[in-house]
Amino acid sequence: MELTFKEFLRGGKEQLTAAGFPEVDAEHLLAHVLGISRMELHNPVTVENAINAIGDITVIEETFWKMLDRRCAHEPLQYLTGVAYFRYLELQVGPGVLVPRPESELLVDAVLKNIEGRDGAVSVVDLGAGSGALTLAIATEAPQTHLIAVEKDPAAVEWLRKNVSRIDETVRILESDVEDALDGVKCDVVIANPPYIPDGQELPKDVAEHEPAIALFGGEDGMTIPRRFINAAARLLKSGGFLAIEHHESQPIDIAAAMLSDFENIHCHNDLVGRPRFTTGTRR
Ligand code: GLN
Repeated sequence: MELTFKEFLRGGKEQLTAAGFPEVDAEHLLAHVLGISRMELHNPVTVENAINAIGDITVIEETFWKMLDRRCAHEPLQYLTGVAYFRYLELQVGPGVLVPRPESELLVDAVLKNIEGRDGAVSVVDLGAGSGALTLAIATEAPQTHLIAVEKDPAAVEWLRKNVSRIDETVRILESDVEDALDGVKCDVVIANPPYIPDGQELPKDVAEHEPAIALFGGEDGMTIPRRFINAAARLLKSGGFLAIEHHESQPIDIAAAMLSDFENIHCHNDLVGRPRFTTGTRR
């Protein structure tokens, strides 16, 4: 006998729980298959309409089970639904680009606060922009800014282009290595979420098996790439310019040491669970 919508949602949750995944992912996946929001799953009329629009409940069910199997094979939820939420934004993501993390949201607050204290237009460069989460959050929340998003990985650039064209076309995308990007340019603010995980550190399977290593690993102690990003920031910033850089919880001292020669007012900020997560400083 054909299962009802509620029954296969329950079945999906059981499958995820048994495999050690959060059961709420079943709601996200089913809502995605139906083309509605997760909240709308609680509205029987919306659900009925969505099912009728697709026409065949067995198609919905099969698509849903396939997605559950992929989730149980550790594909990130956001790669399956194609969407990641970051601050006020809905970003498109998929294989080839890092899923924006909630802990990066606080870095945006610190940058916005710095921008508020400046007069007129503010130029901001995002080093290693990935999906564009940081860039687009700042571009949309601080309209007096001009953003340049630097990214060298072609797969990530594709996602960056999609998000920039949907959210804020005024952002300039530069496909380049951070080290030699924007020769001769000077800006007010640099933001960065570099790859900073120490090579060889064990990561959850979702991350290790599906997200791009180029966006994650920063060298033997994770600091090789962040050091390059700090040097690039020192080159790009005007005197009095502001740097905000995310890092590993093990790196606040190494980051401060790398900033010491060119920056002052160096402060480390914790993330929501109290781990040292990003550092800010002012270019001398
Ligand atoms: N914070 C990310 C993670 O936990 C890593 C992001 C990065 O290396 N920039 O996987």
